[in-house]
Parts: sequence; structure tokens; C-alpha cells
Amino acid sequence: MSGAFETSTRVCEHPGCKEAGQYRAPKSPDILDDYFWFCREHVREYNLKWNFFNGSTEEEFQEQLDKDRVWERPTKPFKKGEEQRAWSRLGIKDPHEVLGAKATQNPGKSITGTRKLPPTERKALEILEAKDHWTRPEVRKQYKSLVKDLHPDMNGGNRADEDRLQEVVWAWDQIKVSRNFRD
Ligand SMILES: [Zn+2]
Repeated sequence: MSGAFETSTRVCEHPGCKEAGQYRAPKSPDILDDYFWFCREHVREYNLKWNFFNGSTEEEFQEQLDKDRVWERPTKPFKKGEEQRAWSRLGIKDPHEVLGAKATQNPGKSITGTRKLPPTERKALEILEAKDHWTRPEVRKQYKSLVKDLHPDMNGGNRADEDRLQEVVWAWDQIKVSRNFRD
């Protein structure tokens, strides 16, 4: 991030912001000599978005998501109680109930479609607000757009969004490895 341009007489270009625009940021990766001018707070916000979405390659993006999944904490496998809590966050009291025969007979309200899918994948589609005839890239697009809205860089670390993001990431994990979706 470049330092403040004290002599700048511009106003921050963030919509509605009246602060002095003393910090500049390139408008796009292709146009590095054309700048937006922002106040300190908004240049920081812009740079976070830039790094996260515009400037990163597909691999970096995925890597970032993998890191976000554990909130930058070192990865460790779920302990038994934690796994239970992970399920309950998804609104599933007992994983065995969902995965057992009962669930297959009565898949519950099926807002996402009628195709025969494992309960975990059906739940994943609900979480992603996706339809079961979608291809994997279509689900992936939806997933990315949800992640974008829910990412802590975008919302100041809202706890509810954090939980929802973990659900969304869990859900995409199910679809990503599923054999039931066309690539
Ligand atoms: Zn501003």
C-alpha cells in the first residue's frame, strides 16, 4: 500500500464518504497508472478486496478459502464433540438420523429438486441455495458468490456470517467431490 499523498485535494471516492482522498489504488490489474483516490479506511478496504478477489489466481483463491475454513488457525481433525457441533450448526441433530434409512425414506421438504441424491448432498444444495439439476460449475459459481458476501474482509467479521460461511464451505466440499454433478 502506498503512503498518503498529503498534497492531494481529492475527496475519497468511496460512495458517501467525505474524507480526504489521500491514498491511491490502481483501478484494475491492467490499468496500473489510473487510480481511485480513497481515505485511509477505504483504501484499506479496497486493497483487501483487491487482494482477495481481483489480484489472486484461481489457486491462490482456493488456498485462501482453505485457510479461511479454519480461520487461519492450524488445521486439526475434528474431535468427536466438535464434529457433533459441526453437524448441529447445519441443523442436523443426529448425523445417523440423516444418513440412516429413515432419511432416505423421508427426505423432508425438498425445495431443491426431486433427483435422487445422498442426504448430505441434498442438505448441501439447500445451504448453497442451489438446484439439483445444476452442473458442478454452476454450483461452484453460486458457492463463490456466497463466499464473497460472507467473507470477513467484506463484513467486519460478523459472527453469524462466519457460521454461515462455514456451512457454505462444508456444503461445497460435498458437491465438489460428488459423482452426481456434471463438470
Ligand atoms: Zn473514505
